[in-house]
Amino acid sequence: MGRLFGTDGVRGVINIDLTPELAMKIGLAAGTFFGEDSRILIGRDVRRGGKMLQKAVVAGLLSAGVKVCDAGLLPTPTLQFAVKHFGFDGGIIITASHNPPKYNGIKVIAADGVEISREDEAKIEEIIFSEKWFRAPYLSLAEEIPKFHGIIDAYVKSILQHVDVEKIKSKKFRVLIDPANSVGVLTSPLVAKKLGCKVYTLNGNLDGDFPGREPEPTTETLKETAEVAKALHADLAVGHDGDADRAIFIDEKGRIHWGDRSAAILCKYLAKKGHRGKVVTAVSSSTIIEEVLKPYGLEVVWTKVGSVGISRIILKESNALCGFEENGGFMYPPHIPVRDGSMTLALMLQVMADENKKLSELFDELPHYYVLKTKIPMTRTAALKVVEKVAEYFRNYRLITIDGVKVLMKDSWVLVRPSGTEPILRIMAEAKDENKLKEIVGIVKNLAEEVLKLK
Ligand code: MG
Repeated sequence: MGRLFGTDGVRGVINIDLTPELAMKIGLAAGTFFGEDSRILIGRDVRRGGKMLQKAVVAGLLSAGVKVCDAGLLPTPTLQFAVKHFGFDGGIIITASHNPPKYNGIKVIAADGVEISREDEAKIEEIIFSEKWFRAPYLSLAEEIPKFHGIIDAYVKSILQHVDVEKIKSKKFRVLIDPANSVGVLTSPLVAKKLGCKVYTLNGNLDGDFPGREPEPTTETLKETAEVAKALHADLAVGHDGDADRAIFIDEKGRIHWGDRSAAILCKYLAKKGHRGKVVTAVSSSTIIEEVLKPYGLEVVWTKVGSVGISRIILKESNALCGFEENGGFMYPPHIPVRDGSMTLALMLQVMADENKKLSELFDELPHYYVLKTKIPMTRTAALKVVEKVAEYFRNYRLITIDGVKVLMKDSWVLVRPSGTEPILRIMAEAKDENKLKEIVGIVKNLAEEVLKLK
């Protein structure tokens, strides 16, 4: 058996890779890991199979002598907030985040509200593979699985504490929220309403079949949302993923913006307001962030791709300002150091209100880059060889080699890395000059072809 935990918990196709039997074992192993009598909060997103998997995980947890509380349907960040805020020993969320509808997943949360570390995941896997779980004596098994109330209220209250509610209220923003028929509808509209916005929702009915759009917010899946936003004269529209930790923004002109650009706006605003500290992001994010933060003397910490690593660095760096992923996950540590779609929405409204600018103006103020993202199918071994060749070719430039190779040149950059989940080489590049962009990607493609021909 291979590793169970991927980059973001255990994921799989419902009833094929992810069965109730496996879910029960994960519950039993997680229960053994957290220990007898520990208090664990469990919740789920809207996906099919969620109830089935939750019951199986709970059975495992109970068997290990854990006291389980049921948080019901809620976004991942809301559960993460609640685990920390209400002092649970840990949490489990049943979700497959942005994956297609047939997927579901199980994510284990530590007492600090952040996903458990790679090392702790390995411990849980080891318990499963060795079957060295703890079974509680029958007299200490919990009889009840109480529902835990008041989570969403406490969560929304925390978000509102980090923005200027009255200032945002005075703007009477028109906001369109697209939660992809999932749990984002339970929090973001409430946050926007408390901020005095006229709130519209699209795909706002809970439906595990995801009839509105795919759960991943992208420039393709949000096309309809952008059209509706324009027709409604919305000042801002936001698209969440299936568990609402991501927020992708659409401006009043109906333009969809990628997450590293919205994060650059938020970071720049925080820096301007005098906040200090390092900004943590993965190598897949645009280097725009360095350009934007330079005048304020703020440093960027580059990490491997994967949100858990970013969160864990934020926890370690006592002075981290925030963290983000280019896919729309933004982490604001004063609230919680994990990706949080509703918090991100509130912060963006705060910037618009405080700067007295339209969302399109905020995006247009950022440096303009041409973007190219592509992939080439090849084995991981071949992809690693290409990475080596690219590093050699561009050896006279600044290189970041923690995850593939990122080459930073004047007004351009390119990232070449093997995918963590599929047999492909990913190429991402940005340049202020369109021809320069084509030239760089052309060089990388040639190097890749050389490697493929050698085989
Ligand atoms: Mg997600």
